[in-house]
Formats: sequence, structure tokens, C-alpha cells
Amino acid sequence: AFKIISFGTRDNEVPHFDALNKEGFEMTYKSENLTHDNIDLVKGFDGVLLRANNVADKQNLDQMAEWGIKYVFTRTVGYNHIDLDAAKANGQIVAYVPAYSPYAVADLAFGLGIMQNRNLAGAVASSEEGDFRPNPASFVPEFQSLTVGILGTGKIGLAEAKLWKGVGAKVLGYDPYPKDGIEDILTYASMEDLLKEADIVSLHVPYFKGSNDQFFAADQLKLMKSSAVLVNTARAEITDEEAIIAAVKAGDIKGFATDVISNERAYFGQVKPEALQEKGSIMAEFQALYPKVVVTPHIGSYTENALHDMISISYKNFENALNG
Ligand code: NAD
Repeated sequence: AFKIISFGTRDNEVPHFDALNKEGFEMTYKSENLTHDNIDLVKGFDGVLLRANNVADKQNLDQMAEWGIKYVFTRTVGYNHIDLDAAKANGQIVAYVPAYSPYAVADLAFGLGIMQNRNLAGAVASSEEGDFRPNPASFVPEFQSLTVGILGTGKIGLAEAKLWKGVGAKVLGYDPYPKDGIEDILTYASMEDLLKEADIVSLHVPYFKGSNDQFFAADQLKLMKSSAVLVNTARAEITDEEAIIAAVKAGDIKGFATDVISNERAYFGQVKPEALQEKGSIMAEFQALYPKVVVTPHIGSYTENALHDMISISYKNFENALNG
């Protein structure tokens, strides 16, 4: 059998891998991520399967090449953790997963939008504190009377639009490259009109370093209604986080929910709660505004369906590579 070692594979993921196991392949699971220190683990395998936070720099790739490992694959959409030049120089084949179920992120954005629009985090917090008086922040239009603005109507944005359409909300979209044939799902508007009208604004714009850094900033926030909430499941870098904090503090917007924060890499894995309070930490600033601001730990792609797609596409990648 073709022996693959899969790094960063959590225990709850193993049954999903096993269910998709292909004949001719033997998958070994390691819960730890690949680093410089544990590179010895790859000895004796034919291929490796990585996650985003695994180290596949020149040093590790050269070591793998020395041990005859030609296939260095990642189960993720991003592949910037693999040094492509070094792999090429070693004659190693690199493959990634171009896409997985867009509902992984869309479902989360939908849920975060509901959460902040209806003040659910705030409502839970007040009952926990023994305050059972109705809070005006939860007094909102129902789905059928909401307007949702989707910024970026690509795979994920369109999936979220379908969810909102399904519950009767009005959906506006803005995209510099509008799609044809989706009039039944959303109505395209200018960014300005979308921001002025929406009760929930959801960001699904990819980040291109040096091109759209912090494009969602004070000017955009100013256009939003004071009753509106902002949801970011795309990338923190497309927003001006300090401007969002200022807008929430000033009551210019009602709330913010995000799955992505600018220095999230500092928190990979787990840190002590005290570490979140470091000076200048964006997490500390967000936490101080809870429940008007809520943060999830980058769980957008973490669904059973998305993992299923990642595993089956990875197996397909191995099959394709082996069959030339
Ligand atoms: P996609 O490429 O299918 O769609 C992106 C859309 O954004 C395109 O239609 C593009 O024209 C549009 N766009 C570009 N610039 C824009 C702008 N300034 N304003 C409005 N629209 C603009 O991408 P996708 O698969 O839908 O993913 C969107 C983003 O979601 C990804 O780039 C990634 O950053 C993020 N994401 C997050 C997670 C997570 O775990 N939270 C997981 C996967 C992806």
C-alpha cells in the first residue's frame, strides 16, 4: 500500500478519514502538527498530508526529499505554508484542495448574523446574571422583514444569500464582478446603498495583500445603520479593526461578530486567558466589548461536510499523482 502520514489529525476526525479510506492507501494519523522537531515522523512514508499550520519550509522539504518522499500534499485551500520553490527543486509534487462546501462558512456567517441581530449573546449573558427583563437590543424585525447585505457574492457569499433567502429575508449583494442568473436570490446594489439599507452586513471578500488592506473602514461603517450588525468570516486584514471597535463603542453600529482576528496566529492552539489581555492585543479590545462584539476561533471551515470534501479531494489528488 501507498503509505501516507496525516498531520494535525484530531481524534474526532479519524472516523471521517476511515470512512473514506481508499484501497491501495494506508493512512497513519498524527494529532500533532509537522514542525522542525518532529520531522523524523515522516521517515518510511510515501506521502504526507498537511494542515495549514504545518511547517513545510525548505528545511523540512529537503529532509523529506533525502528520505525519498515525493508527495507533499495539503488538505487545505491555502498552500502558502509549503515552499513551492524548494519542492520544485527537489522534484516533489505538491497538491491542495481547491474548494470545499461553501456552506461551512456560510452557515457560520448566517448564525453569527442572527446572534448579533437578535442580541443572543447579550440575552444569554443577562439571564445568566439574573436579569430577566426584556432587553431592547433583542427587539428587532423578524427574518421576513430583515435586509441582509452580502459583500462579495462568490461561492460563500452566494451560499449565505441562499440561506437568508430561504428564511424570507431581503438580500442585497455587492460585487465588482456581479454574477448572472441569481436575481431570484439577491438584488445587486451599490456598496453605498447596501450599507445604508442592510440590518446585517456580511463580508465575503478575499484578502489580497497590498491591494485591499483594511478597505472596510470608518467610511463604510459610517454608512451603516446604528441598528445594524457587521459579520466577518473572510479575513481580518480586509477590515480596519480599530475603526470597528470605535464604531461599536460610539453606538454607530449595534454589534460585530467575527471568525477572524488580525493576530490570530499568536493564539494558535491554546493560550492562557491572561495572554489575551496583552497590551495592544486586539482580542483584549474585542473582549472588553462583549457581548456587542463576539469572536469565534476561526471555525468557518470546520464542519463534517467540509472535512469530507477535503479528505476525498486529497485522496483523489494522491490517485491522480500516482496515475501520472
Ligand atoms: P470566491 O473567490 O468564490 O468569491 C469572492 C468574491 O468576492 C468574488 O465574487 C469577487 O469578485 C468578490 N470581491 C472581490 N473584491 C471585492 C470587493 N472589494 N467588494 C465586494 N466583492 C469583492 O471566494 P469564497 O470561496 O466565497 O471565499 C471568500 C473568502 O472567505 C475567502 O477569500 C477567505 O478569505 C474566506 N474564508 C474564510 C474561512 C473561515 O474559516 N472563516 C474559510 C474559507 C474561506
